[in-house]
Amino acid sequence: MSTYDDQSAVTVLGLGPMGRALAGAFLDAGVATTVWNRTPGRDGDLVARGARSAATAAEAVAAAPLTVVCVVNYDASDAILRQDEVTDALKARTVVNLTADTPDRARDTADWAAAHGIRYLDGAIMTPAPSIGTPEAVFILSGPKDLYDRTLPVLSGLGGTHTHLGEDIGRAAAYDIALLDIFWTAMAGYAHALAVARAEGVTARELAPFAQGIGAILPPLFAEFAGDTDDGTYSGEINPITSAVSSMAHIVHTAESHGIDASLMRVVEGQARRVVAEGHGTDGYLRVTELLTRHAH
Ligand code: NDP
Repeated sequence: MSTYDDQSAVTVLGLGPMGRALAGAFLDAGVATTVWNRTPGRDGDLVARGARSAATAAEAVAAAPLTVVCVVNYDASDAILRQDEVTDALKARTVVNLTADTPDRARDTADWAAAHGIRYLDGAIMTPAPSIGTPEAVFILSGPKDLYDRTLPVLSGLGGTHTHLGEDIGRAAAYDIALLDIFWTAMAGYAHALAVARAEGVTARELAPFAQGIGAILPPLFAEFAGDTDDGTYSGEINPITSAVSSMAHIVHTAESHGIDASLMRVVEGQARRVVAEGHGTDGYLRVTELLTRHAH
């Protein structure tokens, strides 16, 4: 058990489902933990388990060399950290911001931290709150490597795997956004599939085992096609994009025959048809990445 005076003590700001899970895991790991939340009264069970409750955010950050912030977004973390008395109390201490937001917000916060003599790591959590404190938890972090190395022994109390993605402070948020892009488009696809299946008299429970089978096809494809995308080869040997557009059109027709909005799949089909029209019909679906990146800057 660490004490509140030693270097491994930690402060957790934000006690939503994730903040509470983080604080609980620190306590279980024997780390002296101080907690604070904008709305009081969210720390009862944590205090019963040994946490210290701070009356203000400034008092909380002064209680430990390391502060972990996990609130809804960077508007919220700015509202807490950029109060003068909190910023002053953080000088020469370390902040690890595990709040999810964009790479630009991470860079802006790092600039603010540097201007005020605050050590800063940015991070994201890629697994749900119940995973925290278990081997399943996944944390990604970016920022100065020496700071990461010094902070890791305390962060390890959260369980799971911790990966340093590089010194560019925006990298953890960049991974987070890309991974959430996969998650939400997959969930949007699942919601749409369930609506189409229901319209055809198929229940979600009936479809689920087969949906899991479709889901299981994806992980090896992610690995296999990653090289294609980096190298620009986009092999269409297994499934050329001309075949993919036909399958997409069937989904659009079936959904619309039931009056179900198919605009997401229409966009996907339209992009794939543009790739075919540009002469890449024998390539694989991921050739669309080139179309999407063409106007990127
Ligand atoms: P929320 O995203 O709902 O965040 C709730 C927390 O944000 C509360 O502590 C709340 O305080 C605080 N908050 C909101 N607005 C403000 C504000 N203006 N000023 C100060 N504090 C504010 O819940 P989670 O705890 O689940 O998520 C926290 C972060 O973790 C998010 O970025 C989320 O994306 C990420 N995350 C969550 C996962 C999960 O399973 N829950 C999984 C992976 C990542 P108050 O109680 O006063 O409203």
